[in-house]
Amino acid sequence: MKTSFYQYPLSDLQELFKANELPPSGPGLLFNWHYKKRQFAACTVDLAKKSIEFVATHLNFDLPQVDVVQESQDKTVKFLMRLQDGLKVETVLIPFNGKYTICLSSQVGCAMKCSFCHTGLQGLNRNLTTDEIIGQFLMSQKWLTEHRPEDDRILNIVFMGQGEPLHNFDAVKKACEIFLSQHGLSIADQKITISTAGYLPGLERWKVEMPKVNIALSLHSPVKEKRDQLIPINKRYPLEDVLSYVQAIPEGKNRFVTYEYLLIENFNDSMEDAHLTGQLLTGKKAYISLIPFNPFPGSHYQRPDLKKVEQFKSILDSYKIPTIIRATKGDEILAACGQLNSKFSYSPKESE
Ligand code: SAH
Repeated sequence: MKTSFYQYPLSDLQELFKANELPPSGPGLLFNWHYKKRQFAACTVDLAKKSIEFVATHLNFDLPQVDVVQESQDKTVKFLMRLQDGLKVETVLIPFNGKYTICLSSQVGCAMKCSFCHTGLQGLNRNLTTDEIIGQFLMSQKWLTEHRPEDDRILNIVFMGQGEPLHNFDAVKKACEIFLSQHGLSIADQKITISTAGYLPGLERWKVEMPKVNIALSLHSPVKEKRDQLIPINKRYPLEDVLSYVQAIPEGKNRFVTYEYLLIENFNDSMEDAHLTGQLLTGKKAYISLIPFNPFPGSHYQRPDLKKVEQFKSILDSYKIPTIIRATKGDEILAACGQLNSKFSYSPKESE
């Protein structure tokens, strides 16, 4: 059976070539062809004949197919991608100054069951493979080049789509290696952010194995009872333990941790909540990203009004923690945080 080319970081491909006694120049040439020159068909130039034959018999270049594209007024683009087995995930391109951040999914569905999240309702179907993660990037990049050639650069990657990325550690790690590689997609160090609900086994590995990748923690409340209600894994992996990993900045790295704080009306949006959050994070290398709750069909939480959100921010400002209110981009196409759910957000006609 053929395996996907897109699952191999350069070092793995080099091993594969070595094990098959193929010329060592092949993997670099292939990376250049597919990632730098953005070619989708198998490479036939410069490669040794033996290598061309090996690639033809052992590797495939299958990618997810774009099923539906939705564009919002603010230029956010949401893709529904169909995987080889027919399952679907979503990928979002978020514009900033004529460039893009790509928001990738790491799983089909999610096992974390956070009470405020549309994806959580879906349950976990399966992990994505490395090539499916890389595929989301390549297909989005291709669409941009075809439709918006004047501004087709993707400079940042956030794992904030469907799934808990640290719950699918190996595949996400390999994908990051390909993203970061100078021979691969050349995303700069610290321009990839993994957002986590606080999945401790993954954080332990992240700390050791992924020094170039940033973390965002979905905090949502410093109060145990409230966080338990929002994020069920808080009962198993207490916030103190999670914070001790998240805040361990490797020596020599000027790294900040992003704390996401979902604001839900009359639940975690009081002045007291803001003060407790300020006290928890003051003096730390922290950014706070306030996310007013994004409703989705069937959700029962409410979004606080903007005045309340601004008041919350001003309290955090008084603790000297850089805080932004995350602009709600793409919410009319259900592309905003927590709205992704490839089962429910499409009418049958669109997904056919
Ligand atoms: N599983 C990861 C990444 C996915 S969600 C995590 O938990 O961090 C990316 C961000 O969107 C998280 O901070 C998540 O808590 C937030 N989010 C989920 N549902 C939301 C909703 N309905 N409104 C606003 N933000 C939401």
